[in-house]
Amino acid sequence: MAASERPIVSRTQPTVRHQVVVIGGGNAGLSVAARLRKARKDLDIALVEPSDRHYYQPLWTLVGGGVFKKEVTVQDEAKYLPGGVTWIKDAVAEMCPDDNALVTARGTRVEYGFAVVAPGIQLDWGKVKGLKEAIGRDGVCSNYAYEYVDTTWRFISECKSGNAIFTHPNTPIKCGGAPQKIAYLADDAFRRAGVRDRVNVIFASAGAGIFSVPKYAKTLNAVIARKGIDVRFRHDLTEIRPDAKEAVFTHLDTGETVVLPYSMIHVTPPQSAPDFVKNGPLADAAGWVDVDKHTLQHVRYPNVFSLGDASSLPCSKTGAAVRKQAPVLVENLLAFRDGGALTASYDGYASCPLVTGYGKVILAEFGYDGVIMETFPFDQARERYSMYVLKAHALPNLYWHGMLQGRM
Ligand code: FAD
Repeated sequence: MAASERPIVSRTQPTVRHQVVVIGGGNAGLSVAARLRKARKDLDIALVEPSDRHYYQPLWTLVGGGVFKKEVTVQDEAKYLPGGVTWIKDAVAEMCPDDNALVTARGTRVEYGFAVVAPGIQLDWGKVKGLKEAIGRDGVCSNYAYEYVDTTWRFISECKSGNAIFTHPNTPIKCGGAPQKIAYLADDAFRRAGVRDRVNVIFASAGAGIFSVPKYAKTLNAVIARKGIDVRFRHDLTEIRPDAKEAVFTHLDTGETVVLPYSMIHVTPPQSAPDFVKNGPLADAAGWVDVDKHTLQHVRYPNVFSLGDASSLPCSKTGAAVRKQAPVLVENLLAFRDGGALTASYDGYASCPLVTGYGKVILAEFGYDGVIMETFPFDQARERYSMYVLKAHALPNLYWHGMLQGRM
C-alpha cells in the first residue's frame, strides 16, 4: 500500500494498549482467546471483531442441501467471548508491526505486546463479472455466505430440467471439498424429485483433479461415475450473464472461452487474504500472514502469530485444522513470552467430511504433503452413515460447547 493510501493516524485518535490482541473472533480467534484465558488468568487480552454474530460455517453445506435451516448455524458473538477478554467491536484497517500497533476502521490505535492474526479469508465476489449483481437471484446461489446459503436449496428444489452447474474457483478456498459436496447432494435431491434424467449436473472446476489426496480422490471419482456427474476440469468461471442465464468459463490450459447455459448455478467465489493483510507488512508474496508452518510464529515479527484461513500455513483451510493449530499457537506464544523455546509443532492436520449424498460421508483426514492421519480404526475412504451423523450432529455440538470454549 502506498503511504498516501494508508489511514491517517492523528494524535487525537484514541490509543489503547493490551498485552495480547487477537484479531478476528471467528473459529480461530475465539479458540485462541479461550485457551489463552484458561492458561493465564492474569493476561490482559483484547479481541478485535466487528460482527455481532458468529457462524458455524461447516453446516452451510447441509443448509444448502435442505437438511437444516440456516438459523441453526448462527449465535451471538458475545455469548462465546471468554470472560475477562475486552471486545473491541471494530475491524482492523492497518497493521503496524514495527510499532507493535494496529489501527481500526474507526481510527482507534491499539498497541500490543503480542498479536494473534485470525481474520479468516475474504470472499472476492467482484472477481467474477456480473456475480455481485446476480447472486441470490434467478438460479444463482452460494453456500459461502450466510446471506445466500438458503437460496441454494430454493434453486435446487426449483430446478426441473437443464444444466445445474457447481463451480470451484482458481484460488485457495476455505473447505476445499465444499464446492463438490453440494453437487453430490443436489444429484441426490434431483433423483428424489424424479427429475434427474432431465437435469444435467455439471461440476466445473478450475482444478486439475477432484481432490489432492489420492486415497480419497479414488472414492470420489467412483462416486462421480456412479452419479453420472459431468466433470469439467480447468474451467475457471469468469462471468455470469443473468439475463441470458449463461455462465462463462475460461479453459485454463487452452485459453478457450466456454459458455454454458444454466437453470441453476452454485458459485464458490474466488477467495484471498483480507485486504488489510495482503496490502500490509505481515503478508507473504501470496498475501497470507507469513508464519512458520510448524510454530505458527511470524517469520519477521516474532511477537506476531497467526492461524486459520488467513495464515500462510500450507494446509487445507478448515475448522478442523484450526482445532489442531490453536493449542500449538497458545503453547508457543506463552513459551516465547516467558523467554523459552518454541517446542509445540503443527503437523498440517486437516479434515474434510466429504458429503457424497444424504446419509453418506467420507471422512478425509490428512496432514502436510497429503500424509493420511485418520482417527478411526476403519477405512475412512469408504462412504459411511456413521460419519454423516458425526458431521451433521456431533461436530456442531463439539464446536459450540468444546472448541470455542478452548476445551478441544
Ligand atoms: P472465520 O471463522 O471465518 O472467522 C474470521 C473472523 O474474522 C470473522 O468473525 C470476521 O468477522 C473477522 N474479521 C474479518 N475481517 C476482520 C478485520 N478486518 N478485523 C477484525 N476481524 C475481522 N471446515 C471444516 O473443518 N469442515 C467442514 O466441513 C467445513 N465446511 C465448510 C463449508 C462451507 C460452505 C464454508 C464456507 C466453510 C467450511 N469450513 C469447514 C471452513 C471453516 O468454516 C473455516 O476454515 C474456519 O471458519 C476458519 O476459521 P477462521 O477463524 O480462520 O475464519
